[in-house]
Amino acid sequence: MSIENLIPLQGEEDSAHMMGRVHSTDSFGTVDGPGTRYVVFLQGCMYRCKYCHNRDTWDLDEGQIWTVEDLVQEIIPFHPFMEVSDGGVTVTGGEPLLQQHFVYRLFKSLHHLGFHTCLDTNGYVRKYDELLDALLRYTDLVMLDIKQINNEKHKDLVGVSNEYALKFAQYLAEENIRTWIRYVVVPGYSDDLEDAKEMASFVARLGNVEKVELLPYHELGVNKWEVMGEVYPLEGVKPPPKETIQAIANEFLKAGISVTGPA
Ligand code: SF4
Repeated sequence: MSIENLIPLQGEEDSAHMMGRVHSTDSFGTVDGPGTRYVVFLQGCMYRCKYCHNRDTWDLDEGQIWTVEDLVQEIIPFHPFMEVSDGGVTVTGGEPLLQQHFVYRLFKSLHHLGFHTCLDTNGYVRKYDELLDALLRYTDLVMLDIKQINNEKHKDLVGVSNEYALKFAQYLAEENIRTWIRYVVVPGYSDDLEDAKEMASFVARLGNVEKVELLPYHELGVNKWEVMGEVYPLEGVKPPPKETIQAIANEFLKAGISVTGPA
């Protein structure tokens, strides 16, 4: 199924009955944005990250179909928990920007109800239009994954050029949208200090990035590949040592950028 095939599922743009494909939800997320968050994992991704810990989110025609209205009703009871922790709702995936109509309608509804909204994306944007702008108007924070600044290494690691993510980063900067950058440190793929230095220089030039979150590679998603009968591409790769994370953090700090681990 192509990306475009997802669009008819989403119904009319202004309908609360608009539908989207949801992989799963987590009503008490603590690592995907500020505070305690209701996290919505949308179905579908065009990247093929070798370390993907959500391998079962890739297929565009899987997942459960939800209306915006039903999802909002599901989220509302959790508002008090979010309020006391300055949390909110994060939409991630998979890749949420493959279902822009759905996310736009969801964030618009949530905003009217007083929820903080966060978009966790790999930046795979192929079209810059009014819909994207409308979605971003109701987005309080973007967490953008930049997997590798070196395009050849990026393609090797995730199967797609980094031109989409870098262009989206620049667009967020032009629009002055609050942004965090997420960088997964994978031994042998994204732990080179020269790459980190180049990435830090790129991020510093953007001017709108509050911080970079360094996420050490982990092996927690391996069993999903096994359950799906697939060979895990990073078999034998171990999480990076603390010293590597610190050395990469130093490159960002030298460029004047705040760095944290998972929030
Ligand atoms: S962008 Fe996320 S969901 Fe998509 S392949 Fe990469 S890690 Fe998996």
